[in-house]
Amino acid sequence: MKKRILIIEDEDSIAELVKFNLEKNGFECERTDSGEAALKMLQKGSSFDLILLDLMLTGMDGTDFCRMFRADTSLRQIPIIMLTARSEESDIVSGLEFGANDYITKPFSQRVLLARVRAQLRSGQASSEPGVKIGAHGIEMDTEFHEAKIGSKQLDLTANEFEILEMFVRAPGRVFSRDAIIKNLHGDGYPVTDRAVDVAIANLRKKLGAKADLVETVRGVGYRLAK
Ligand code: CA
Repeated sequence: MKKRILIIEDEDSIAELVKFNLEKNGFECERTDSGEAALKMLQKGSSFDLILLDLMLTGMDGTDFCRMFRADTSLRQIPIIMLTARSEESDIVSGLEFGANDYITKPFSQRVLLARVRAQLRSGQASSEPGVKIGAHGIEMDTEFHEAKIGSKQLDLTANEFEILEMFVRAPGRVFSRDAIIKNLHGDGYPVTDRAVDVAIANLRKKLGAKADLVETVRGVGYRLAK
């Protein structure tokens, strides 16, 4: 079955080009030019596998859309990729904090867009499978047995460090804000602060040894694993 993508973009030329290219690559797309209309479609039961969201919209902007979409528990939680102008760094941060999964800065190539779309659709699938083996850059993880290793060397990670590394390994190159990381951490039973994330990242780097530099700081935004 074809994956369905909702494109929320008020610039006709961009929206048409994106739709054309995604459809050419086997996706089914619907377009709307406003966040309000998109929310209505979703609340009426239209189902999608992914949302492409322009950040600068008239009326409800992309950040507001993310916030309202994620707050509505009746809606299925589907990945959101924001489309932004380079100047909107603070908006990128709030978008990620309000639940967007990734962002692409304009102007972008259709090839990059396609790769990001496929990556999101893949990572959504992987996370629903119990006990999968995942890996990137020679870091291997078994999410069922909570084991991580580099070559034959077992990494001794805390629960938080493991969760963070798992997020990174599932999506190399994707930037996670501190808030997004905090939302992903669970199981320790106590609130996680920004500072705790920074400490976990520092410890994770130490434990990665020669691969420490793979964990990159994206100034003003968050952290990511090198692509
Ligand atoms: Ca726009």
